[in-house]
Amino acid sequence: MAPDPIPRLPLRVRAHADESLPGLIVRMAEENLLATPYRLLEACGLGRATMTSVAADPAAIVPLARLMGLPEEDLRRLSYAAADGSVRLLGHPVPGDFVTADRMRICPLCLAEAPYHRAIWGLTVLTVCPAHGVPLADRCPDCGLRLDWRRRTMAACRCGAVLGRAASALGPVPDAATAACRLLHTPPDALAGLARDIGVGGVLRLLHALGCIGLNVPLRRPLALADADPELAARVVDEGWRALADWPASFHGFLDRLRADAPLRRGRYGLAKQFGRLPAWLNALTEHAVARAVREALAAYLSGIPEIPTRARDVRTRRPAEADAACVTLSDACQLLGTSHRRLRPVAARHGLLVAGSGGQGEPLLLRRSSVRTLAGEFAGIADRRRARAILGVGRRAFADIEHAGLLPSPAAGIAADLHGRACWPVVALQTFVAHVRSTATRAARAHGPVVPLAAATRMISGLGLGSGTILAAVLDGRLRPVRLSTRGKGLAALGFPVAAVEALGVALGAEARATLSLAAAAAELAVKPEVVYQWARRGILPTVAVPGQRAERGRRVRRADLEAFRRNYATASELRGRPGMSPSRKLALEIIGRGVVPVTGPSVDGTRQYLFRRADLEALLRQG
Ligand SMILES: [Zn+2]
Ligand SMILES: [Zn+2]
Repeated sequence: MAPDPIPRLPLRVRAHADESLPGLIVRMAEENLLATPYRLLEACGLGRATMTSVAADPAAIVPLARLMGLPEEDLRRLSYAAADGSVRLLGHPVPGDFVTADRMRICPLCLAEAPYHRAIWGLTVLTVCPAHGVPLADRCPDCGLRLDWRRRTMAACRCGAVLGRAASALGPVPDAATAACRLLHTPPDALAGLARDIGVGGVLRLLHALGCIGLNVPLRRPLALADADPELAARVVDEGWRALADWPASFHGFLDRLRADAPLRRGRYGLAKQFGRLPAWLNALTEHAVARAVREALAAYLSGIPEIPTRARDVRTRRPAEADAACVTLSDACQLLGTSHRRLRPVAARHGLLVAGSGGQGEPLLLRRSSVRTLAGEFAGIADRRRARAILGVGRRAFADIEHAGLLPSPAAGIAADLHGRACWPVVALQTFVAHVRSTATRAARAHGPVVPLAAATRMISGLGLGSGTILAAVLDGRLRPVRLSTRGKGLAALGFPVAAVEALGVALGAEARATLSLAAAAAELAVKPEVVYQWARRGILPTVAVPGQRAERGRRVRRADLEAFRRNYATASELRGRPGMSPSRKLALEIIGRGVVPVTGPSVDGTRQYLFRRADLEALLRQG
């Protein structure tokens, strides 16, 4: 058996749990009265190494443990290197930029309490002692030289000056330093929250980056930043911790602060306009766990503010499903609705559907997806003339006639109808109308004799100036009973009309038409001006009927029977003129009113042109003499 080439040091010191490996080497060398710690390295075959390299060299653990007579795992915990060569701090993987053994920094107050080197002093983003709040010192207060590992003791400088100093006044400990200390002293498998997801190293990486982005300082290595401007470095850490302290709420607050500066940034829209350098940093980030955590928190933030317009594919595709669903561009909306930009844009503007974007300079206009979806549903639920004709199963002419007869349901209203831009009807209402008409039909039976469809029935009465509307009106009035031709015929095309019944209807309608007077003719018979009759008709004093085949008000006519009834019930003053006791005055009506007769209508009653009285009242007046 070959002799062990590595001797054991006669005296041992115990490693502190929060000590650094180079610090332990210094103490071990001191205990064994070695001139410098480098003697110790030479003794275990690491003569060419520096303290810095040993601190970060996993291969140094075994010979050092042998020499010092300590368990390897104790040294491994204190080392700044993992077995795979990656950088560790107190067992936590951290980015290489964030730990330095090269630069020795100390807290004089800690050293006064116990003269050993704390591993956390190697953390480059740490600027003050987390226990005492005093700045970490990297120079001897006496000789002013940089502190290094070439020393006999941790307690004093090479010049002999004692480094430890009793606490006179403690400084404020920044939250970030406290948090970093707490996280580093938590075993990796006991971490919680964000630190569990991205590790202490991820937290540190994020802390530094968000601090730099938040303060808008160039993203540099922490040590370089601290060397250039220690005060700024401390502020970066504070700002970074503000964004992390209560993840993700604190990060959302951080995003709010970035957005507040959006007006000062170049560009017109997009994530860079809103969040400055954050998106670019995020895209370049290689730590997947950190990138994922930030993207998730950013997506959650964006889902609450869907009006932040972005075409950034990266973020859009990473927004969670509900956030992605929150908004669509105008172009997407056009596609969803099957309509054009030209048509949708003014409608969207009129009804407040646009949630963001001016549409200028290529900035996308955004609509809430939910409103577009609702609109698409409404849009599908309305029918233009063509579709309405198909639902009714009638041709162009018949449809116009039915519409004219006032039989169609009320036209559609609202955003969808506006988007349509032309007359349209709710599909459901059209279907209900068809179903209603069809429900009046009886089963086809021989007893009905020959049966014709709507178009042919319409032709049978067209000589009277009547159309399909008249046929359907008669059906709805119960004057004409259709029969069901088939169960499959579309809309009203499934109906048949018995020829005999249509002929009878034609005869009846013809007779009715002949038995009515136009309003002008009625005026002549009543010896008043036509305008007066129009006014009486409009007020319902003279009943009128709508005659099929005629149009609008011009089509309102007076049945002879109603005219006779009107004559029996009402009279104008002119009928009394010259009668016994009545003056011939043109102001007779006013005299009659003066004698206590209340007119039904007239200039002083409702602004009509002529006074009209109840005949019974006038006759009573005549009887009075
Ligand atoms: Zn301290
Ligand atoms: Zn000194």
